[in-house]
Amino acid sequence: MAEKRDLIIVGCGPAGMTAGLYAARMGLNAVILETGICGGQMMNAWEIENYPGFEKISGGDLAMKMKAQAENAGIEIRELTPVEEFKFSDSLKVVITAKREEIHAPAVILAMGATYAKLGVPGETEYHGRGTSYCATCDGPLFRGKSVFMIGGGNTAAMDALFLSNIVEKVYLVHRRDKLRAEQAYADRLTKLSNVEILWDTILLEVLGDDGVTGVKLRNKKTEKEWTMNTDGVFIAVGSTPNSSLCEPAGVKLDDKGNIIVNSHQQTNISGVYAVGDITGEPRQIVKACGEAVKAVTHWLTVRPIE
Ligand code: NAP
Repeated sequence: MAEKRDLIIVGCGPAGMTAGLYAARMGLNAVILETGICGGQMMNAWEIENYPGFEKISGGDLAMKMKAQAENAGIEIRELTPVEEFKFSDSLKVVITAKREEIHAPAVILAMGATYAKLGVPGETEYHGRGTSYCATCDGPLFRGKSVFMIGGGNTAAMDALFLSNIVEKVYLVHRRDKLRAEQAYADRLTKLSNVEILWDTILLEVLGDDGVTGVKLRNKKTEKEWTMNTDGVFIAVGSTPNSSLCEPAGVKLDDKGNIIVNSHQQTNISGVYAVGDITGEPRQIVKACGEAVKAVTHWLTVRPIE
């Protein structure tokens, strides 16, 4: 016998946890399924300064507060429960876990988030875990007192460069243009730091190494000059890719970047299937994820069939 629920939420980042909080408070018999542990990408953020109500809070602390609040409201969260397959019809949503357990519900909220993108240069994958990293908060302390490279010009690269500047001797921030994409507040702080040097108009061509990373090969896009520099660590933050690979086979429409297409109520093209948070695309912000989750739950409550 398949387990039956009023609502299944897939993903336990800020979007999933907010959906769970609202669903529980509104009396729905819902469950959150999470591949790993709750928190999503914010677990990698050493400091969050733009979540209202907290001037500064670490991503880990915010995640734990959200989880406790949702669980206190009554939501059941199943961590370490990867989902393997979706089967969606208008009247029934079937979610199948990696253990081939089936959960049935009339509605599902897809909140699987996004994962860091890869740059695709030689050496990047080969030295992953041996000098290349996508998580400054996790791996930064391994490079104490050393020089490292941070690749990217968005909020993640800027935040991570700020974090690394507290630990390492020098951070080279490599950006392919002459202006950061990151918020001005981060850019202002970075330019004031004596141990952060921004290499503008520059791209990473290759990560060099032997047993681990030993250097980088770079190119200035304007002058076309190529050169190498020694380093032990290369951090990469060049955007993120939505975790939507299970969605298309289940008939959920995606855009050309793999984001789930939703309307203003967070409805996908399948009735009763909603998508919220980073999986719906930019802006990838915690407050946006939370807001979308509220819209999805409240919309489902207004349209669901009453038994
Ligand atoms: P992002 O905003 O998409 O920025 C990616 C950066 O990597 C851009 O500067 C981009 O350059 C560069 N890039 C992309 N492909 C590249 C390539 N092939 N070679 C060299 N550089 C490349 O990604 P993100 O910084 O990871 O942030 C992801 C999302 O999370 C964003 O929506 C961001 O706002 C959000 N986020 C928010 C916060 C916050 O609010 N505190 C913190 C972290 C992340 P161009 O600028 O030239 O395109």
